[in-house]
Amino acid sequence: MSLHEFIHSQVLAERDVPFHALIMAAMRKADTGNIEKLRSCWPETWDELEKRYWSPGGLLPGERVPVALLVCEHDKPLAECATCAAYEDGAAEAAIEKAHARWLEEVKRSIP
Ligand SMILES: [Zn+2]
Repeated sequence: MSLHEFIHSQVLAERDVPFHALIMAAMRKADTGNIEKLRSCWPETWDELEKRYWSPGGLLPGERVPVALLVCEHDKPLAECATCAAYEDGAAEAAIEKAHARWLEEVKRSIP
């Protein structure tokens, strides 16, 4: 280890990165010897990382993107779009479905 790595650890700690996010990031960066150590200490974290890695958008089956991250068909954050907010209940749910589908398509397009 080095001072450089120590300072990076300080920066990550100051950003209040969640613990398991740090473990997942470590797994992504680990060499063969270290990945085995990490997998044996956090097998559930490894399983989740692997499942999400191979899933579009990192979504697990049945999981939805938070509405706060969705963009509507009017190219506005869904939660801030006055047009979508004015929809009746059923149409509002349809707008969420459309925005979710757009988000997934965007993620799929971004995969090389
Ligand atoms: Zn809208």
